[in-house]
Amino acid sequence: MDFPALLARTQTMTPAMLLRLRELVEVESPSEDPAAVNRAMEMVAGWAVELGGKVKRHKQKGYGDVYELRFGPRSAKRKPILLLGHLDTVWAHGTLKTMPWREADGKIYGPGTMDMKVGVMMALTAIALLKELALLRPVTLLLNPDEEIGSPVSRTITERLALESAAVFVLEPAQIMSDGSAALKTARKGIGNYRVAVHGVASHSGVDFERGHSAVLELARQIERISAFTDLKSGRTVNCGVISGGTRSNVVAAEASTEVDVRIVRAADAKKVERFFGSLKPFDKACRVTVTGGINRPPMERKGGTIALFRQAKKLAAQLGFAIDEAATGGGSDGNFTAALGVPTLDGMGAVGAGAHASHEHFVVEHLAPRTALLAAMIATAE
Ligand SMILES: [Zn+2]
Repeated sequence: MDFPALLARTQTMTPAMLLRLRELVEVESPSEDPAAVNRAMEMVAGWAVELGGKVKRHKQKGYGDVYELRFGPRSAKRKPILLLGHLDTVWAHGTLKTMPWREADGKIYGPGTMDMKVGVMMALTAIALLKELALLRPVTLLLNPDEEIGSPVSRTITERLALESAAVFVLEPAQIMSDGSAALKTARKGIGNYRVAVHGVASHSGVDFERGHSAVLELARQIERISAFTDLKSGRTVNCGVISGGTRSNVVAAEASTEVDVRIVRAADAKKVERFFGSLKPFDKACRVTVTGGINRPPMERKGGTIALFRQAKKLAAQLGFAIDEAATGGGSDGNFTAALGVPTLDGMGAVGAGAHASHEHFVVEHLAPRTALLAAMIATAE
């Protein structure tokens, strides 16, 4: 592969990529609005067809549709590469009014720019490059409508396509390190969500205090116990992030609950966490404790196939003229599902930027061409 030529060609394609990206960003697509997400999907599907892609639309109820876009020759010998993207964003309709597409100091700002509409455009550009160079192999670009809300409907499709693929590249943004460099993600924590509810016995705090069994007091005790499930040494964190309960200060509370976020590094920890939550018993026998939820994203552990992909990326990046490192993150992505199935998965293959889910969300333009060229080279060379 002629790396300087590949990079130069990517650079000449970048302005056109940015024009289309702007169109895509200006179609607001919050996860909660299926029609809006589908408008963004249709736009990208149209561009995919221009590239010779085949579109398969998996219709969903209550969510946007899942789009499976296939490119390249069908080959019995060579397994496809699965590129994982999503077109839903965390941004509500109207966000563009206060947070419009804006270019300043080599950065492009706007809702869903970095997370991850630019990643999807990088994928289309990489496919166009490989087509030009007659290096296109079977590639599946999967666009999910529900990543920002935990991938409830796309998960099974992601998993099925991963199992038929040689490798998975996740188009989520790169990880910014403390020295400012941007690393690929070779490990992600698994995520669990629990809700612990306490049902106590209400009473008048003045007239009938002793008859009451406070759900608030019981929950406070439970929170101490739940928080102690944290074990920083093994990377397990348990955060009671939301509490609610009670009605008025003069009522002994009948109800209280907490919403808990759990992060784990090792898959084996999932069982342990389930056991912990299953073992919760009321301190006050007159109160009842109910637990719902569980681990919904297994951790992406740093393992063989993923390490090999990272080494390859490092080598190719060097040939393209930049250094690249690897990192672990506490955040989850659809890569958690594919890595947990044992399919080699490399994450953070999207843009370099900052401010995901924040009002300063942006990506850095100068990294766009090198990272897109890297993505193309990785697709071409993965086993
Ligand atoms: Zn994302």
